[in-house]
Amino acid sequence: MIVYQPSGIVEGLKAALLRTSLKLLLKPVFSPRWSIGFQRRWLLALSRTTLIPKGVAVEPAEVGGVPGEWLRSAQAPSAPPGVVLYLHGGAYCVGSPATHRSLTARLALVTGLPVFSLDYRLAPEHPFPAGLDDAVAAFRALARGGQRVVLAGDSAGGGLALATALALREGGSPLPAAMVLFSPWVDVALRDVPAAEPRGEAMLSVAWAAACAAHYLRDTSPDAPRVSPLFADLRGLPPTLIQAGTDELLHGQALQLESALQAAGVDTRCEISAHRWHVFQTSGGVLRSADEAIERVARFLMGPLAAATGTQPSSHEVVILGAGMSGLCAAVKLKRAGIHDFVILEKQDGLGGTWWDNTYPGAHVDVPSPVYSFSFAPNPGWTRRFAGAPEIQAYMQKVATRFGLLAHIRLGTRISAARFDDATGHWHHDIERPDGARSTLQSRFFMCSAGPLSQPRWPDIPGLDDFQGERLHSARWDHGYAMTGKRVAVIGTGSTASQLVPPIAEQALQLHVFQRTANWVLPRRDRLYTALDRLLAQFPPYAAMVRWNWSQVLEWGRSGFDEGTLARRALLAAAGAQRKKQVGNEALRQKLVPPYPLGCKRIIYSNDFYPALTRPNVELVTDAIARITSHGIVTTDGRERTIDALVCATGFDVTHLLSSIRVTGLQGRTLAETWAHGPEAYHGITVSSFPNLFLMLGPNTATGHTSTLLYIEPEVDHAIACMQAVRAGEHRWIDVRPEVLRAHNDRLQARLGTSVWSQCRSWYRMENGRVFALFPGFTREYVQSVRVPDLADYVFSAPSSPAQPVTHAAASAQP
Ligand code: NAP
Repeated sequence: MIVYQPSGIVEGLKAALLRTSLKLLLKPVFSPRWSIGFQRRWLLALSRTTLIPKGVAVEPAEVGGVPGEWLRSAQAPSAPPGVVLYLHGGAYCVGSPATHRSLTARLALVTGLPVFSLDYRLAPEHPFPAGLDDAVAAFRALARGGQRVVLAGDSAGGGLALATALALREGGSPLPAAMVLFSPWVDVALRDVPAAEPRGEAMLSVAWAAACAAHYLRDTSPDAPRVSPLFADLRGLPPTLIQAGTDELLHGQALQLESALQAAGVDTRCEISAHRWHVFQTSGGVLRSADEAIERVARFLMGPLAAATGTQPSSHEVVILGAGMSGLCAAVKLKRAGIHDFVILEKQDGLGGTWWDNTYPGAHVDVPSPVYSFSFAPNPGWTRRFAGAPEIQAYMQKVATRFGLLAHIRLGTRISAARFDDATGHWHHDIERPDGARSTLQSRFFMCSAGPLSQPRWPDIPGLDDFQGERLHSARWDHGYAMTGKRVAVIGTGSTASQLVPPIAEQALQLHVFQRTANWVLPRRDRLYTALDRLLAQFPPYAAMVRWNWSQVLEWGRSGFDEGTLARRALLAAAGAQRKKQVGNEALRQKLVPPYPLGCKRIIYSNDFYPALTRPNVELVTDAIARITSHGIVTTDGRERTIDALVCATGFDVTHLLSSIRVTGLQGRTLAETWAHGPEAYHGITVSSFPNLFLMLGPNTATGHTSTLLYIEPEVDHAIACMQAVRAGEHRWIDVRPEVLRAHNDRLQARLGTSVWSQCRSWYRMENGRVFALFPGFTREYVQSVRVPDLADYVFSAPSSPAQPVTHAAASAQP
């Protein structure tokens, strides 16, 4: 069970108001004193006052001979991975699809899945098993043809959903892909519920539930597993999410069901929201806690639906590799361009890319948060100027939810190979899932947003594999390992090490920090954002102004990489002053003087790295490492330091970009062969002979001075404009002209060869000295040259004449 604590004054006030309204307007009518007919009419009248989110179409329909309504989001993918069959609550006697629209419509909007809300037959006119028969018939009809169906329901509808799954299992029918049960009523006899309902219960009373149960049961025993599925054999059921509130009559039943499902070996997640009432999720759009609960439903469904669809061959307009910042940006902009037929394949079990991978202690962004959010999705909720990794990952989740991306994302899904077929103008992808399942996927366009910092690099130090203690890489952190009281070594003193050294130093008995090269460290002007900051940030012009200001400040910092500038003098002075102020020991300070010009490697912004190095339990080791032994590290002076844990903050393998995928373009040539002498692309986006392939954050697009998001947005615009040109001209493919690519890279290399980045070893450079990762200019230069592609730089292939590529001008002239 996971408990969520809603917070915030406004949220608290809204909750109090809603609860009071329900207690005054609904609870008195849900009573045996009133006729069922009146209760139904009253509930329908009240439900007309609730909010239905915009952008969801409601369409009456019949499925399996049972009436109901489809709720479909305009944002949904054209080929959703499944559908939801929703069974409304109402104690089996009242309620309808119309009374539950505020919940079902939001479910459709947030999950991106079409929701069929069933108008199943109600008691007393139609006692058990009429409703169950309707649900089973509708499910079977939806599941026909292999369609994946999620069964969801609230209250009595939750109990009915569970009973439906049991009936399907016993009838040998395909099971739901997953179940979502909001405050399910799973013991119709209400055994073990408190005699008086909890004070906060806004809707249900024991007397009303008992009266409705009697109508529903008529002659059936309340012990029958299909009316009280809590007591049934629950083995073999699909992954199930239960949500309930603490302030409700059925709170205990949610917990009992969780235990029963877990005992039966069912993959179960139970989420309890503190101070929330029965099916509070109907208040989505008003209560943040309700919105968040529904967002969690969408995230929960991503796993089972990805697993279910992973083995089905399918075809999409666009495949996006990676659900990091660039993958999400690509998805949002594709939707805005009217392209909804795409999937995002993500090899990890969650979205976030580098922010999913890098959870080491102290992880945070090193540019101000307002510029580390998309221009189209400002985040007024940042709690501090330099946000921590969990906050950034949460922001990305919100972006994915808000823009309806969740139904497009397939987690735990890896592309192992991608091959372009000239004849069809399509990419063919080989897909692998962790359970070994393999499948194929086709797409016209391939957006590769793997991120340059995705392959952890272990240091090439002899004996690394002999180490018997705990070995960690910063990008694959084991949170189960406690550093408290341990002897720890950290190899590396880059951006990552500077963030994880201070928290480890506070816990470890002894910390040895192995520095090969001292780096430039500048103060981090961090601060907490106040309630006023967050309030002001709600106003789009203010948020845009703050973002623009920071981008200009960082842009000014770019001048600091050029000799003789005012910015450079200011940065050098700030770095020197910080070193002097924070490191009193002269010998230690000398070890921390960088041996290369400022800017050649990424500048570190930290206020606590130097102080951590001055702690009595921390040693900065500058002797080179000779080898690693089973329990320690030996330096070239022959000294061995015995350690319990070895932390490698040694960065990423950036040189072999996309090395985990075999990408094959025209004439069977692979990207690895093409890049044998180093990766290069046109503006970091397109590579000759790899048509319809768009790299995000490809070669020479990294930045040493500002937010990478400022580069991602124009890259995505460029890629989509190219796709639109292919679609508009009905071409098969678009490919950058080789001579354009060559000239572009010659110009870049000429600039980089004499730049500050050529003057030290860094992840921006290859062994042969070629700077392949970094863009040398200012951000505005990149944005202006990239956002709108010059289509004359590209060659298009006409649909009818595969052998004869055409220029864009000629192609446009075709009818
Ligand atoms: P990094 O900058 O490549 O630093 C790796 C460190 O490990 C360097 O100090 C390097 O020393 C050392 N090292 C590597 N191999 C070694 C060996 N065999 N023996 C001894 N030392 C060795 O990696 P990173 O710190 O993980 O940062 C990578 C990039 O990630 C950054 O540049 C930045 O772009 C990004 N990052 C961003 C944030 C953020 O907040 N946005 C945070 C962390 C990282 P040498 O310097 O001598 O090579």
